[in-house]
Amino acid sequence: MVKVCKTCKIPSIVSRDQVWNPNGTIVAKEVPTFRLAVMEWPQFSNLYTSLEKTFGEVIPNCFTQGTRKNAKTYIDGLLAGPIGYVARSSLGSRKAYDTLVETCLGLGYGRPTIKDYKRKESITVDIEDTVYPPLFLGDLRGAFESVDRVHNQGRYEAISKTTTRFTVEATDKEDPLEDRFNTYDRHLDLTGREPERCKGCGLPVALARFKWDDKAFHINDSVLGERVFLFGFNDIIAIMHELETLVGDMMRGMVREMTVPYGREIGKKFGTKAFDFTVEDMRLKGMGLAYYEWDDNNVKWEISNPFYTPILDGKLSGIYEEVLGRAPKVDLKREGAVLTITMI
Ligand SMILES: [Zn+2]
Repeated sequence: MVKVCKTCKIPSIVSRDQVWNPNGTIVAKEVPTFRLAVMEWPQFSNLYTSLEKTFGEVIPNCFTQGTRKNAKTYIDGLLAGPIGYVARSSLGSRKAYDTLVETCLGLGYGRPTIKDYKRKESITVDIEDTVYPPLFLGDLRGAFESVDRVHNQGRYEAISKTTTRFTVEATDKEDPLEDRFNTYDRHLDLTGREPERCKGCGLPVALARFKWDDKAFHINDSVLGERVFLFGFNDIIAIMHELETLVGDMMRGMVREMTVPYGREIGKKFGTKAFDFTVEDMRLKGMGLAYYEWDDNNVKWEISNPFYTPILDGKLSGIYEEVLGRAPKVDLKREGAVLTITMI
């Protein structure tokens, strides 16, 4: 049995590892520069499927690279100091991977099993029902790089309908994309609104809307009825920026268009309450702290510490379209940590 908070029933590993800040961000408790976001699985799978269809093999590789870089940064942060010395020793390194496997529950990544581990040589992990496999491959490669301190290469294959096998092996060569996908660092706005918090574990009370399944290692959103998972915020920003460099400006427009139908679904479900729902939804998902003003046909959003702009723009435009009956004209302005989206 997984240990849960007696009050809100959320697995204790979530409050042990992550903090929901009043400024609309989620960060790793031990590495506060590492930001996370709750990703909507249907929306995310639609995004990578469409990108793969248009751009091919470069897409899974981009997701792996972005995730690898950030996983390494995160685990380097976790293992800073004496704890790292223990974790990287011959006795400690297997234990370090067991701990990483545990974190898959908190993140909703699917259920992993370590099949084989040879220190500084290779690691093989099976996961049942994971999210997009390139993400876990990146995590495993980044972890191997940080714990075993070796350059590596990796691959994955489906070994049954539900299970994917990941293999990472040491190599002498540095990854050719080593200098790219660097963590996207941005000044954060630290002011915020304190959410109501669970007296047991300190997580926001509203987070109980997400149900952690301790058998499947899934997280289900009981309000929107979909799977979600926690993912590195900087990973996604780094990946999107890299794709913008590769593909050009059309990338932003494409991502926006892909997200509009998702916003329309929210508009349909909540009607005029969709804007209020979204303020709370974004905050819980670590996508920023939003305020809005709605006056006739004008809706003005101010979002501090915002998630990737085209995704927010697409979602909010879809909601506008459904609630106000026509597509908005959108004006975007970014100043410091604040994104202003005006829709008329
Ligand atoms: Zn609690």
